[in-house]
Amino acid sequence: MIGRPPVAPAERFWPKVSRGADNECWEWLAYRDRDGYGQFNDGTTQTSAHRFAYRLLVGAIPRELVIDHLCENRGCVNPAHMELVPPRVNALRGSRTLAAIAEAKTHCVHGHRFSPENTGRDGRGARVCRACRRVNSRRWYERQRAERLRPLAQG
Ligand SMILES: [Zn+2]
Ligand SMILES: [Zn+2]
Repeated sequence: MIGRPPVAPAERFWPKVSRGADNECWEWLAYRDRDGYGQFNDGTTQTSAHRFAYRLLVGAIPRELVIDHLCENRGCVNPAHMELVPPRVNALRGSRTLAAIAEAKTHCVHGHRFSPENTGRDGRGARVCRACRRVNSRRWYERQRAERLRPLAQG
């Protein structure tokens, strides 16, 4: 055989993800765009990392629908945290109705209670779970540190 077979996009994808338990956020570790969404080149086109993950694990995304992150974490590529919605609904997020629905939830997608101490706000005024944010940033930093230490450990 001449040369090596090309590496399948899925094989290149997962090393860029901090994949936790099924109900946790799966943090994208590679390049993110200005809006905070992970970017991945599937070999043909540059695509959003979360869209790639959704197609890989769930299936095709209908043309008329967009993906909404239920966990409010744009760097998350866990399809369990995604919902397909019409673009208009996504754009209206933050409107009174949808905000009211979000506010009515007593727990985050990971089961942490939205107590006053555990509730923060993101840039758009949406509610965020502080426990989740702590876990996510800690995991990110640990991963970054591991990346930095690796060459030393090997050398
Ligand atoms: Zn998530
Ligand atoms: Zn949480």
